[in-house]
Amino acid sequence: MMRFTLPRDMYYGKGALEQLKNLKGKKAVIVLGGGSMKRFGFLDKVLAYLKEASIETKLIENVEPDPSVETVMKGAQIMREFEPDWIISMGGGSPIDAAKAMWVFYEYPDTSFEEIIKPFSFPELRQKAKFIAIPSTSGTATEVTAFSVITDYSTGVKYPLADFNITPDIAIVDPELAETMPKTLTAHTGMDALTHAIEAYVSTLNSPFTDPLALKAINMVFEYLIDSYNGDMNAREQMHYAQCLAGQAFSNALLGIVHSMAHKTGAAFSTGHIPHGCANAIYLPYVIKYNAKSAQNRYADIARSVGITGNDNECVDKLCSKIDEYNKALSIPKTLKEFGILEDEFKQKVDKIAELAVGDACTGSNPREITPIEMKKLFECVYYGKEVDF
Ligand code: FE
Repeated sequence: MMRFTLPRDMYYGKGALEQLKNLKGKKAVIVLGGGSMKRFGFLDKVLAYLKEASIETKLIENVEPDPSVETVMKGAQIMREFEPDWIISMGGGSPIDAAKAMWVFYEYPDTSFEEIIKPFSFPELRQKAKFIAIPSTSGTATEVTAFSVITDYSTGVKYPLADFNITPDIAIVDPELAETMPKTLTAHTGMDALTHAIEAYVSTLNSPFTDPLALKAINMVFEYLIDSYNGDMNAREQMHYAQCLAGQAFSNALLGIVHSMAHKTGAAFSTGHIPHGCANAIYLPYVIKYNAKSAQNRYADIARSVGITGNDNECVDKLCSKIDEYNKALSIPKTLKEFGILEDEFKQKVDKIAELAVGDACTGSNPREITPIEMKKLFECVYYGKEVDF
């Protein structure tokens, strides 16, 4: 038996935030990141709408990027004292992910990260509160997914939490919030969304329920990302919806090794962080060439859906070229070398990174199996810009 789960309601369109004034309840905590929602006036709007709904509010502010176990536990403690019946998270992926984890420890104070790290093993949520997610970036789609990533900085371990219990009850996809994204973030999150949709479409868990969402998302990203990057706010709006569709697909079909590679290289090098979406964008064409041995027809479907013609082989090649063109237009480098990773450090670390990437949670649903030796070869192609021919 398969399962397909999405939020109960999705409100979208400019000004969709206003739906909050119709909320039924007594108390809401609002979980926020670094302050942009406050600065741009969106927090004030939310507070006014909730006041109109006669809902008492409390803020949990300053959730850091890549939220920590401590932040989650502190937030859960505040929730236990305040006893909200709504958890509202607003901002980029980090505050929403953190709020999802806080929700678990609010409802189950005696549980531990070790207990919920096993995928799809969560206790039954919604005993105390329901969950609203309001994204301000157009990429992670955490507002509709069953995932959250929390970091234990004392051990350096990332906990990728996965369970349909943490799929939000309500997603408010208001493009006005995404208008505040800087240019580079628009590029990276947009390519993250494209990667979500492509990986979901070729995933071993793809289904008739996820395929149309993935294909539509891919079409919309190709149509709107460049314009959105160049400041066209109508295109920005369409990208906000496209990433949400991609999220609906991958929350149910899961991902593949582009994400495995991005997860294990994001913080691996001394030269600095590789932003998640940027890493995905760099790896995507190489992984398509690798995976095409097992999923050529699926990639050809994607290519044809965006107007590419030819036999399956030609379609896959042209799809990769199209992604290369987009990366170029978005100022995303073609190789890890070009990104600035030092060759000595790469050589020194690649064996370990390859092994970790094979063990990543996203590898299981990749359409082609991969060994650590093959993964190392793939990373070498990505580093030097070599053709993937194995
Ligand atoms: Fe992603």
